[in-house]
Amino acid sequence: MGRFARVAPPLPVSGLFTYEVPEELRDRVVPGVRVLVPFGARRLAATCVGVDDTPPPAGVAVKPLLRLLEDEPLVGPDVLQLTAWVATSTGCSWGEALDAALPPAVKSGRPSRTVEEIVLLKDPRLVRPQVDELQARREKQARALRILAERGGALPMRELMNLAHVSRSPLESLVRGGHCTLRSVRASHDPLLGQSVPRTQPLVLTDAQRDCKERITAALRRAMAAGPGGAGGARAFLLFGVTGSGKTEVYLQTLAECVAAGRQGIVLVPEISLTPQTVRRFRERFERVAVLHSHLTDAERADQWRRIRRGEADVVVGARSAVFAPLPRLGLVVLDEEHETTFKQQNVPRYHAREVAIERARLAGAVVILGTATPSLEAWHAAQDGGLQLLQLHERVGGGRTPEIVVVDLSLERRRGGAFSFITDPLRAAMDDALSRDGQVLLFLNRRGWSPVMLCGRCRQPLRCPNCSVSMTMHRRALRVICHYCGTERPPPIQCPACAGPLHPLGYGTEKVEEEVRQGFLHASVARMDSDTMSGRGSHEQALSDFAEGRTRVLIGTQMIAKGLDFPNVLLVGVICADSALFLPDYRAAERTFQLLAQVVGRTGRGPRGGRVVVQAFDPRHVAIRCGVAQDYEAFAQHELPLRQELGYPPFSRLVRLVVHADEEPDARARAELLTDLLRGAALDGVTVLGPAPAPIARINKQWRWHSVIKCVNDGAVSAVLGKLEGQTGPGKRARVLVDVDPVGML
Ligand code: ADP
Ligand code: ZN
Repeated sequence: MGRFARVAPPLPVSGLFTYEVPEELRDRVVPGVRVLVPFGARRLAATCVGVDDTPPPAGVAVKPLLRLLEDEPLVGPDVLQLTAWVATSTGCSWGEALDAALPPAVKSGRPSRTVEEIVLLKDPRLVRPQVDELQARREKQARALRILAERGGALPMRELMNLAHVSRSPLESLVRGGHCTLRSVRASHDPLLGQSVPRTQPLVLTDAQRDCKERITAALRRAMAAGPGGAGGARAFLLFGVTGSGKTEVYLQTLAECVAAGRQGIVLVPEISLTPQTVRRFRERFERVAVLHSHLTDAERADQWRRIRRGEADVVVGARSAVFAPLPRLGLVVLDEEHETTFKQQNVPRYHAREVAIERARLAGAVVILGTATPSLEAWHAAQDGGLQLLQLHERVGGGRTPEIVVVDLSLERRRGGAFSFITDPLRAAMDDALSRDGQVLLFLNRRGWSPVMLCGRCRQPLRCPNCSVSMTMHRRALRVICHYCGTERPPPIQCPACAGPLHPLGYGTEKVEEEVRQGFLHASVARMDSDTMSGRGSHEQALSDFAEGRTRVLIGTQMIAKGLDFPNVLLVGVICADSALFLPDYRAAERTFQLLAQVVGRTGRGPRGGRVVVQAFDPRHVAIRCGVAQDYEAFAQHELPLRQELGYPPFSRLVRLVVHADEEPDARARAELLTDLLRGAALDGVTVLGPAPAPIARINKQWRWHSVIKCVNDGAVSAVLGKLEGQTGPGKRARVLVDVDPVGML
């Protein structure tokens, strides 16, 4: 009870704001409740983070808060503390961190049971003339209309806004223009929600699995005895086990121990792996499972969240933000595929779910398991250091044979002359062989579209996006060139816009691979899985079940097919170009290439017939490729870590990246220089300021970008940098600043 409430508004402001609590609300305004407050000329819903009786300094006027929005606190004491930590460690305000911890419909307090859909009024196959007509003057509408038609003619508004990179207004224009209409549907995207699933029994663990389970449960018992925040030994484990080594079974059985002891668990998986099959494995073992992910409607998400808050779920399965799930008695947090970059949120608050999970477990007196077949070098280094306890599963359950590896040097293939194709002779022969034995084939290429560059034969310049400093990707089926950064698209020009020379598609994307495979293997059923083909409702599920049941023989895809597919009949995995991402300007390029390759290679050799992998690369001797193909993590780490140490990159330092955006390049540059001067002037201990320089992609969406990277030798140096930047990074008239602590990308 108190006269004054400290309130954290969900805005980029520093500090807390004080409001007087009206007499009649004094016993109900407690930390964690949501309140409505006057804020400047606005009224704002915000979270109360504390109450007390200390009056503000004399002369400071305090306004009364307007109203209590919910009777119960929405945020418990642990999540309150956790979000405070997120705010300080990522450099955002407490209110912004709290904002990320609550689902939208919970915040607004009026969950809508329906989804608003936009529906095409014509047969989707007949809208091309309208698209072309809109193209010249209403580019965004044209783009949205085309995408809507491609996805079958009906999509939730929000999904189309995302897919087409547009705001609401072009879509409303399509409705006004008579192309589309809006409707409300009572839809759920989770076919398993509310459905009961037959229970399965725990498997008899292998010795290695049992050893892992015992060490984790021992830590769990110590943690529970010590209580929240208490000491008591190792609390965070790195479970390093090749794919198929039975990590999930270890999660399931340690969770069962946790639940039996009256505690609860969170399982975090990358959004892309959050499929009904994944959720099902947990529902088969636990009665009370809640799911939190982006395919739920707002109302469903709010329902799940409230169930969790009431203590009605023993296990929560979810993507990144489920790390904030309001479980009252948390005992265990599992984060699967620890190395995945999607655990890092790309907008404010820019937190990494792995770090938040560890902090949350510390606050709750819980244990964390980070599982992966290819640990991030940060986690691996922490395991060497003792910061994480290392658990290893060396072998696949039930064996499985190591696949036969064939490496194809693309630079030799290219030099050989004649018509060059990314379906090289050795790959073609291996495909013939696999298909003739009734096996299935996965072909992997991490680039969608037909070809990534349209090059002018005369001036040798690529066709560039008008808004970004990148080249446009040709998409043949859509008959468009598309910018993968801002979404701008147009019919492919016939001539180079600069010199009217002829444009030639250069390089390969998944679409082109698909076409060549269709032409070269007339009797095989072929499917493609990438974000162009896979955003219709249930399309991902459909493609996977077609493959699982053998209706598709050759599946071509981007990283969507690199993860978690477990099909015994895959006799061949072909990697079209293993080094396509190796030369990106990012110190993690080798690590990424290694991880992806090791994951893809793990997709075969699962059945009794073994398997084969054909890896094509321009530089097949590169260590990331050699080790990736051999799935030899430790050899890769041994090679890569000394290089990182020499250059002072993570895990031997932490980075803070500043990116400044502006309409005019000199404004971006000036602001970036101002900030780096400020930091250099402060001469902070253990801090090295690099740059500023134009970002590797110097312009995106009409915004010029300058960046600077700040190396910090330890956590203290990071705090010092964030402290120095506090109040200096707010939106200016001409430039906007983005602060990214521990960035996962450098473009
Ligand atoms: P991971 O999560 O490491 O990829 P999974 O837990 O999915 O591995 O296990 C791979 C396969 O092995 C699954 O089909 C699983 O049911 C099976 N499996 C796991 N542990 C055992 C065990 N102890 N005995 C028999 N089969 C097991
Ligand atoms: Zn663009």
